[in-house]
Amino acid sequence: MNIKPIELIAAPREAHFVGDGFRVHNFIPSGYHLDMQRMDPFIMLDYNSKFHFPPTDTPKGVGVHPHRGFETVTIAYEGSVAHHDSSGGGGIIGQGDVQWMTAASGVLHKEYHEEEFSKNGGIFQMVQLWVNLPAKDKMSTPKYQAIEHGSIPTVEVQNGIVEVIAGEYQSTKGRASTFSPVHMLNVKLDPNGYGEFAYPAHYNTALLVIEGEIIVNHEQQVATDHLVLFENNGEDFTIQATNNATVLVISGEPLNEPIAAHGPFVMNTKQELIDAFNDFNNGKFGKLDD
Ligand code: MN
Repeated sequence: MNIKPIELIAAPREAHFVGDGFRVHNFIPSGYHLDMQRMDPFIMLDYNSKFHFPPTDTPKGVGVHPHRGFETVTIAYEGSVAHHDSSGGGGIIGQGDVQWMTAASGVLHKEYHEEEFSKNGGIFQMVQLWVNLPAKDKMSTPKYQAIEHGSIPTVEVQNGIVEVIAGEYQSTKGRASTFSPVHMLNVKLDPNGYGEFAYPAHYNTALLVIEGEIIVNHEQQVATDHLVLFENNGEDFTIQATNNATVLVISGEPLNEPIAAHGPFVMNTKQELIDAFNDFNNGKFGKLDD
């Protein structure tokens, strides 16, 4: 084993609301050295840690807004979200499901708590990641991968399983198709569950403890809702669960391209950002009713 050392363990920052439906801790890009370049191609990670929403007849969420130049990946751990976009796509992302939306040349979408969940209220827990697109793919056609929990390939490990959302784990290929090498796993371990992972040293690699408590590399205890950033050194790391644990593992080959980002647009140059605003203002992202 050539151990990949821990560079940083990040506690969740103070939560803020996105719209009125997502109470998130931002891990990327607003602090902890985790700017858009450091975790390239992962340019944003918002984590709605377990939060109880009371029952309501008016679903909470985020109204119509655009995206261009990247992909949004939503992983539901508890609760469910209804999604609609300007290409006519939409669906419900329920517990265990993943939505992989390629905004690419541009979509409008809205994200609200699903109606039944809203009526009953309950615990909500979700991750939204933004995965950057290579320059050559930024203006490609938008698409939408609805990945139901039951369709995600799994690999057995010691006292646990690994769900392969994207990339691969021990030669099992993930469900999502990606534009650059990206690995995304949900590692679900029983007490004393154990898994070994390996990614090239130059890949940017992190994990987020969604549930339970773990020991990384046989020595470092990491608590719930904390993120571990690995150094760009060594390939291998291990995760051991001290109780029932769920861990999101992400690793990707950096695109190493310039990033010009503003709000919902992530491009390579300032001019492309200006074009994005103009296209949006001129209705070129399509139509979607509030
Ligand atoms: Mn969005």
